[in-house]
Amino acid sequence: MFSSSVIEISKSALQKNLTLLRKILGKKVIISSVIKGNAYGHNIEAFVPIAEDCGQEHFSVYSADEALRVKSISSNGPSIMIMGAIDNDEIEWAIENDIEFFVFDFDRLDAAIKHSKKIKKPAKVHIEVETGMNRTGFDQDELELVLEKLKHNYEALSFEGLCTHYAGAESIANYLRVKDQIKNFSKTYKWFHAQGIVPKICHTACSAAAIRYPKTRMNMARIGIMQYGFWPSDETLINFLSKKEDKTDPLDRVITWKTKVMDTKEVSTGEFIGYGTTYLAHKKLKIATIPVGYAHGFSRSLSNTGRVLIHGKRVGVVGIVNMNLMTVDVTDIPETKKGDEVVLIGHQGDLSLSVASFSELSNQLNYELLTRLPNNIPRVITN
Ligand SMILES: *Cc1c(COP(=O)(O)O)cnc(C)c1O
Repeated sequence: MFSSSVIEISKSALQKNLTLLRKILGKKVIISSVIKGNAYGHNIEAFVPIAEDCGQEHFSVYSADEALRVKSISSNGPSIMIMGAIDNDEIEWAIENDIEFFVFDFDRLDAAIKHSKKIKKPAKVHIEVETGMNRTGFDQDELELVLEKLKHNYEALSFEGLCTHYAGAESIANYLRVKDQIKNFSKTYKWFHAQGIVPKICHTACSAAAIRYPKTRMNMARIGIMQYGFWPSDETLINFLSKKEDKTDPLDRVITWKTKVMDTKEVSTGEFIGYGTTYLAHKKLKIATIPVGYAHGFSRSLSNTGRVLIHGKRVGVVGIVNMNLMTVDVTDIPETKKGDEVVLIGHQGDLSLSVASFSELSNQLNYELLTRLPNNIPRVITN
């Protein structure tokens, strides 16, 4: 294969994660598969068909271009919801294709009304309200006008959902802020209800909120990172396991990123490895070069820090991660030779590696590293 590494996507892992999530959230809560950022690097075209095979019927994307990609690849006519960017001149396309979208300003709301009237088909809108994240969402003092517009354009606007997003539900440090957001959302919902304008569904939860704050599940949860088999934070995992007998991580990584050893070399005591002087061989070492670097999405910040799996053992990156390669210390696995399998993310033998397993690094790097995986690394679906 003309590629220095390959990404495997495991359908059975996805099925396992979704089964667990459905069990936790219950039958009444729709699970929307969040597939922004090229399905967190898994690749939309590879991911959507297997997610559909696993029973997913609702997908959340960030932007109109991603919605178009889902539309082109899906086969069961799933619901597609744009949570972020859509230009006003893409709205007509969205309405025509039953693509739902967040609305958090009057410019977009008015464009939705205009295009809907033009093609005589209602726009499926999700009204996003500000509850405390201070990013997007209608402010409290704008809601009166939102309500007026929904009321007077009921043929043009189908009020699909009322929604918001939490400012860091994966960390207990944000507990009070999230609790406030939950309260604010509830107030807003009750206000709409009292005015007789009711959304079809309410949705606010991401993975962390759905796990930590059951109240946030409402009618639908927008689940990203957990369906791929990663936890939003160690805290979320630890909290989850603290209530369980079985202390093993119940999620399975859907992704395995693999390559092969390109070369091996002995390095004498006192020599530096790679560019500059960041790694000094304190004893005689055996190193292996791996044909993956920051151009392939393996962050340069993992220099001297990252880990990979070889022969079922964890080995550390030594020296700087280069553009197209890196070196790892295989002194303790002397049998390592050219062509041996290297796992960058995922399972090898009994061990599994996520980016966050590099102890001092935060789970936030999972999101970042995954979404930076280049689209030209081949994706292979495995069972
Ligand atoms: C990314 C995103 C989610 C999913 O977050 P996870 O932590 O990956 O579950 C949910 N809602 C919105 C608005 C998002 O942008």
